[in-house]
Formats: sequence, structure tokens, C-alpha cells
Amino acid sequence: MVATEATFEGLAIGGKRVAASDGRTAPTTDPATGEIIAQVAQANAADVDLAVKTAHATYSAGRWHDMHTRERGQILQRIANLIRERVGFLAQIESRDGGKPISAARGEIGAVANTFEYYAGAVNKIHGQTIPVNANGTHMTFREPLGVCALIIPWNFPLVITGWKVAPALAMGNTVVVKPASATPLSALALADLAIEAGLPEGVLNVITGSGSVAGNALALHPLVRKISFTGSTEVGTGVMKQAADGIKRVSLELGGKSANIVFADARIDQCVESSLWAVYDNAGQDCCSRSRILVERPIYDEFVEKFVNRTKTMKVGLPTSESTEMGPLITASHRESVVNYIHIGDEEGAKRLCGGEIPNGDLAKGNFLTPAVYSNVTSNMRIMQEEVFGPVVGIMPFDGEAEAIRFANDSPYGLSGSLWTRDIGRALRVARAVETGMLSINSSSSVHIEAPFGGMKQSGIGREQGMVALEHYSELKSVFIAND
Ligand code: NAD
Repeated sequence: MVATEATFEGLAIGGKRVAASDGRTAPTTDPATGEIIAQVAQANAADVDLAVKTAHATYSAGRWHDMHTRERGQILQRIANLIRERVGFLAQIESRDGGKPISAARGEIGAVANTFEYYAGAVNKIHGQTIPVNANGTHMTFREPLGVCALIIPWNFPLVITGWKVAPALAMGNTVVVKPASATPLSALALADLAIEAGLPEGVLNVITGSGSVAGNALALHPLVRKISFTGSTEVGTGVMKQAADGIKRVSLELGGKSANIVFADARIDQCVESSLWAVYDNAGQDCCSRSRILVERPIYDEFVEKFVNRTKTMKVGLPTSESTEMGPLITASHRESVVNYIHIGDEEGAKRLCGGEIPNGDLAKGNFLTPAVYSNVTSNMRIMQEEVFGPVVGIMPFDGEAEAIRFANDSPYGLSGSLWTRDIGRALRVARAVETGMLSINSSSSVHIEAPFGGMKQSGIGREQGMVALEHYSELKSVFIAND
């Protein structure tokens, strides 16, 4: 099947498209217009069973992990190349299905190609150790694949996160069953087509579409699954961890966040305002790393707020098809309702809404749009400062001194990401070490690099994706001793 003619009909199992066994489908819609894009198969437990058994049989036959490393790496590299070749096509899918501005979607697809390329190069660099033990012989370790990995994906960065899981899982020699979010199923199906075109053996990469409560649940509970890699909300992730307990499945979780952006008075304020804006409004705020709590040192608080609000008012909220759009719609009408509910909560808690939080009319009335909202007069215990709103809503709060900044930053059940802005290098490192977060950027809003570990502390998750460390989460360490005589 050729990816430029990708069909979204059917589950991708064993290199073929198959309908759900009970024939059920559900529409996936364009969040900007409400139009139906495609009817998508809804897998039930029997379909999930077929997908997992197919992945298991493929693994057991050794058709992937027994392949020589160079050949495996070359197939992953061909997937990267095809993604780059089809960037326009894949970006359109991602933009329509997820409501992303087309320019942002193109950037994401480029990042997916980079991910496959990185792990293509990793395949023949995974090795064990020889250990000088107190015995007459040699002790060595091997990194072994696990078998079938269940990869459960959220809707906010569908193909990016699929790549973060599929590429290292395959580099390690596993076979996989991917479960995309029900709101954004299309790009994972397109990837399945493209992987076959790149020469990946059938049955190595399978995709089941459908609801979390039926398809996701059946996948997480399947006895032949050896590892679950989940990205999504802390609430669902908690349940997945319990599901993994049966059968002692390996589990890694990338969950919610409520990251702090700490701005000291010596920061370069204009650069910081522009960067902080994208750190919260990128993907319409539907970003686990969104730095939606901005803490600003008191001497520059008023200036920062004024500049941030002025720039927020110029954010171009619009149709994702326009090259100049800076912010698209929220993913679904019900998700927008939940974000609007937080706007009401913020207003009622006594925070001062300085702009935004409105539903636009005109061209945008059919989509799930919302203008970005900025609050001042917030306190750390308010719900809009504690809970993951997952929309374009930000609170800006003053602090006095380093110790208070750290205390406010750590006053959260989450610990995923964050930033700090200062020109004092000693303070930068002291604060970076003290903030309880898995990732942090200094004088920058970007902490996502495919070569470096990504993941959270506290209720933001367990385990790390990206970098060589991700390979550890898709493998077991085997210890072998061989006697000299
Ligand atoms: P979600 O938890 O609702 O769903 C995530 C996935 O789990 C979907 O594929 C869904 O169908 C599936 N699912 C739902 N119920 C299930 C069940 N009972 N068993 C198995 N699977 C089930 O999350 P979402 O709304 O798609 O995404 C938004 C959330 O994801 C936010 O909380 C965000 O912070 C988080 N997220 C975290 C990261 C990270 O790396 N830490 C990255 C992106 C998104």
C-alpha cells in the first residue's frame, strides 16, 4: 500500500487492513470545522487479541529481532526518509485531525523523521558489558528485547509521540501494537502503511484504532503484552499502572504536567516574554510541557505582565490551513467546555482575567476555538494554578527571592518540565537542581531534544523516553556467566 494513497479504513494488523470484527466504525472530525474526515474502525477485545497474537507470532518467529543489525537500521532509516518525503501529506493529516496550524504540523512531522533516524543509528550501538567477577570464567550482559510492546498514545502530539515509542521499541527488536487516541487515529495508520513500504516485515508494527475504554483497556490487559508504554493523563495512567500489575508487565508512563516558568529580575525580558508565550500557547496550550504557571520576580512583575498581555492579544487564532495562524482550535467541543469551565473557576476564585477566554464568532464559530487567557492576582493554591487545564490559560504570579521561587515551583503534584530565566549562572544551576521536575530549560523554553532523556517526576510519570536511555525501557538486561573449563 502506498502512503500517498493511505486509506484510513480498517485496523492495521499483520501488514493488512482489516475491519473491526463487528464492523463498527466511528467518525473522526476536523476540530476547526466540525467536518467528518474519515470513518475509523473501532477495535473490540477480539480485534485487540488478533493484533497482539499477530505481533507475538511475528516476534516469536524472529523475523525482526534476528535480522542483522545493519538491515534493521536501514529499514528504520528508510521509514525516516519516507516520512521526510511525505511531510506535506502527513502534516495535512495531522493538521486536519488534530487542529494544528499547518506550519506547526510540518515541524512535528520533521521531528518524527528525526526520531526514526536517531534510532536507526542506535540499532548497532546497543551492547552489554563484560564484568570481572570473583570466579573462574567470564560474566557478561546482553540487552534483550521484551516481545510485544503496547504503545498507547494521546491526541495532542499524535505522530510525534508514536515515533518516540515505536522507533526505540523497534530499534531494540520488539514488535508493537499501537493504540492512537480516538480523536486522532489517522497519522498512526498512515505510518503503518509507510513502514510496510519501507520494508518492515508484516506484523512488526500493528495499529488498532478505537476507544480507550474498550480497545485500550483490552490491550493493556492482554496477557501476551510484555510492556506498556503509555502517554496520557495522570488519571488514565494510574489505571494503566494497575492493569500492568497483572502479569507484571513492564510499564512506563508519561503523564500530565503543570510546569513553572521562573523569571528572575535580571532576565532578558523581551526575549523571555516571547519565548514564555509560546511555552504556554503552543498547540493551543494542549501540551504536557506547557509552562502555564509563570512566576516573576517582583521588581519586573508589572512590566512582564503588561508585555505578556499585549503580545497575547496579538496572537493569531485562526484556521489551521492558514500559514499565518499561530493558534488553532482545541481538540473537541467537550475539551473546550472543560477549559471554559476552568476560566469560570479562575474568575470565581478571584483571579483577575486580563484578557481572553472567549469563544470567537464568524469563520471560527464552527470549530472549537478559544482566545488565550491571562490571569494575574493568582495564588499558588488556586485550582487554575494547581490543575492541568490543558488549554491556552496562564496565571502570572509574583515572588520575592530564590527560596520563594523554588517553593512556589515545587508546590505542585506534577514535575514534568519548566524553565528559568536569569543571567546569574550560579543561581541558574542552584535553582535548576532544586526544582522537582524531570526536565528544565535555562533561558529557553525548549527541553525536548530527541538525543536527551524526556520524562517526569512525581505524578508526571515513570521512566524516560528519547535518547539512548529509552532503549532500556524496551529491553531486559540478561546476565550470563560462562565458566573457563
Ligand atoms: P487520555 O489519558 O485520555 O488518553 C491517552 C490514551 O489512553 C488514549 O489513546 C486513550 O484512548 C487511552 N485510554 C483511555 N482509557 C484507557 C484505558 N482504560 N486503558 C487503556 N488505554 C486507555 O489522555 P489524552 O486526553 O489523550 O491526552 C492528554 C493528556 O496526556 C494530558 O494529561 C497530557 O499532559 C498528557 N500528555 C503527557 C505527555 C508526556 O510526555 N508527559 C505528552 C503528551 C500528553
